[in-house]
Amino acid sequence: MTIIERFLNYIKFDTQSNPYTKTTPSTKGQLELAKYLIEELKQIGIANAYMDQFGYVYGYIESNTPTTITVGLIAHMDTSYDSSGKNIMPIVLENYDGTDILLNKDLKMILSPIEFPSLKQKIGHTLIHTDGTTLLGADDKAGIAIIIGAVEKILKEKLPHPNIIITFTPDEEIGEGPKNFDYNYYKKHNCQFAYTLDGGKIDEINFENFNAASATITIKGKSIHPGSAKGKMINSILVAMEFQTMLPQNQIPALTEGYEGFFHLNRIKGGVEQTTLEYIIRNHNRDLFEKQKELILEIKNYLNKKYRQDLVTVNVEDSYRNMREIILQHPEVLEYAIKALKRNNIEPVFVPIRGGTDGAEITYHGIYTPNLGSAGENFHGPFEYLDITDLNKMIDVVITLLKIVTE
Ligand SMILES: [Zn+2]
Repeated sequence: MTIIERFLNYIKFDTQSNPYTKTTPSTKGQLELAKYLIEELKQIGIANAYMDQFGYVYGYIESNTPTTITVGLIAHMDTSYDSSGKNIMPIVLENYDGTDILLNKDLKMILSPIEFPSLKQKIGHTLIHTDGTTLLGADDKAGIAIIIGAVEKILKEKLPHPNIIITFTPDEEIGEGPKNFDYNYYKKHNCQFAYTLDGGKIDEINFENFNAASATITIKGKSIHPGSAKGKMINSILVAMEFQTMLPQNQIPALTEGYEGFFHLNRIKGGVEQTTLEYIIRNHNRDLFEKQKELILEIKNYLNKKYRQDLVTVNVEDSYRNMREIILQHPEVLEYAIKALKRNNIEPVFVPIRGGTDGAEITYHGIYTPNLGSAGENFHGPFEYLDITDLNKMIDVVITLLKIVTE
């Protein structure tokens, strides 16, 4: 089977996850893909491949060298909730010439290098794109194709490799990937580090992500007939507006990039008697992140003092942490990836993730897990496309990485 055929088979499965079903995995399509992947793993020689009760797929390959190191390779089976993943109509475009790609004439949808400049680096490559009505699912079925492609070649050609654990997780897109992850399986096989193949460009290595928290601000007002309200009424909506104006006005998603953190007002619900504000707080820097959370409490205290009563209550909850500080204590995990890219003539670039990644929580469970590229672009929408030329290079990078670990 060619790598293109393999990928096209994966995206026939509608594996869109759903945050509202309350089942594990959240949707049935993911189980169907899981079963299919187990058969495929068995076909390429991993007889022990299995699915656990949560729909996670695992497989283990023993080292064919003296090394006892175990490396995890992880990708996710689900696709984003933001865009449909049903009846995907992929189009394979060979030898891309650098011009506009017409996705859909009726919908007037064009994938253009003007809007998406990364296309300019794709001239001569084989691309797969959508018909503009669904996403493509390269996020993260390209990651699955890379892992299976690399392992198939390693087994077939008896290339040197350490112990390998393969894991395909459900529900990454709804933040549930690490929840039922079998950390004991990793411990049993003495696995201390892994790589998620869930990024974009193949030269990118991600080992930094946001520290994340949510803050719910509840403001109680005092409602009195407006005609006789002087000195008595407290309009909680106005206090909420006051709260918001006391936050740094330039620290919002629309005005920040790179390592810059933000307060994002997600939702506001209110009347005179009660108003709630829902924020998410994000920062790569742990100290600044803690200061952001402190500021929320300071504003609360200030307003309660100003109005001489406990109008404002705050509930701050941490969501996930930046894995940077832990990964940097185990630099060899990055070194393997850097060397593997360089040996394949790819200059590595370190890009901080402005979001979370399954690897962050897995890292905090003692399996150090940076993220590598999987050759897709424009994830989570109909402009998503996959660079097959780069995907093939990434298979070589993974094979090289596994070899380096044995050296
Ligand atoms: Zn992904």
